[in-house]
Amino acid sequence: MIRDRETLDLLLDSVRRFVREVLVPAEHEVAETDEIPPAIVQQMRALGLFGLTIPEAYGGLGLTMEEEARVMIELGQTSPAELIASFALTEPGAGSDSAAIRTSAIRGHDAQGDHYLVNGTKRFITNAPQAGLFTLMARTDPAKKGASGISAFIVDAKSPGISLGKRDRKMGQKGAHTCDVIFDNCRVPAANLIGGVEGKGFYTAMKVLDKGRIHIAAVCVGVAKRILSDALRYAVERQQFGQPIAEFQLVQAMLADSRTELYAAECMVLDAARRRDDGLPHATEASCCKLFASEMVGRVADRGVQILGGSGYIAEHAMERFYRDVRLFRLYEGTSQIQQLVIARNMIKEVS
Ligand SMILES: Cc1cc2nc3c(=O)[nH]c(=O)nc-3n(C[C@H](O)[C@H](O)[C@H](O)COP(=O)(O)OP(=O)(O)OC[C@H]3O[C@@H](n4cnc5c(N)ncnc54)[C@H](O)[C@@H]3O)c2cc1C
Repeated sequence: MIRDRETLDLLLDSVRRFVREVLVPAEHEVAETDEIPPAIVQQMRALGLFGLTIPEAYGGLGLTMEEEARVMIELGQTSPAELIASFALTEPGAGSDSAAIRTSAIRGHDAQGDHYLVNGTKRFITNAPQAGLFTLMARTDPAKKGASGISAFIVDAKSPGISLGKRDRKMGQKGAHTCDVIFDNCRVPAANLIGGVEGKGFYTAMKVLDKGRIHIAAVCVGVAKRILSDALRYAVERQQFGQPIAEFQLVQAMLADSRTELYAAECMVLDAARRRDDGLPHATEASCCKLFASEMVGRVADRGVQILGGSGYIAEHAMERFYRDVRLFRLYEGTSQIQQLVIARNMIKEVS
């Protein structure tokens, strides 16, 4: 759903310009230093990129899912670091099986009022080293083993009892940092329970995951666009056997397959986003988007390396970095296998 085409086009234009003039020139520095320059973070904040869907009344841009997807397709056309907010669900013993989390939040009352005492370890938490707040999933009813014992909290990252593990050394996506977040008798005010009711956290997380899956699929589309445009430019310029390699039909096949899959993923993302905006069921579509777009960008990056030949393997070219960066998309917010399970289970439910 696009509410005001003209305003959205202005936003997309400024994001496009920001990507071209600020983010792309900084890519190499971010990859080398593993840090986003503070001036860029500040500019992203000023553009409203940290509050895309937060209602305008609270200082965000209040974008619909389709508007957000279109912004992410533009923003994705640079290194994918820092596009994902801090959300603490995964644990050492609970990844794909996220309903198995063991971090506990036990309600108590003392002179300082109602609170929860949180204990446990969260793993691979993106942006944890920079986060001011965590959205935390914890078990408020340890007697209940599954999803219904889990609640969601907003936790101030500076709360006593929170410590961070050392930064993970990742394959790619430099500039975005992950680490363990350890809660040791961390006191969280009872008012920070999201929704005010215990046991709803997992369902809240699942709703966020649907949105997150469309969001990540849109980023995949954006990155694939960038990779394909770099590969195309290279193919047109690089000469072998006395002609541009783009003239060779085997290279054309790689370009054409990439363009076709990219087009399919973009259509899927926009359709799923519109379904969400229209209040239609979209859990299956969100998983289809995440599965297809993340696998698609992996294939596009692989072909990108192939089209660049030896240069595709050399760090001076962005292609080698993109090849590593996009690998993550098939792993987080539900691996490809988990998306397959979600899609098939929903299909089976529809006929039983
Ligand atoms: C860089 C990075 C950033 C991350 N950021 C965050 C974050 O901000 N917040 C957060 O909460 N988490 C985050 N994660 C965690 C991420 O969501 C998990 O790593 C992911 O869900 C997979 O869980 P796991 O690593 O425990 O793998 P596992 O669940 O152990 O899976 C291992 C393999 O087994 C397969 N598998 C598991 N169960 C099944 C099944 N039932 N059927 C078929 N195959 C199965 C998986 O598909 C996978 O191939 C991040 C991870 C990384 C690497």
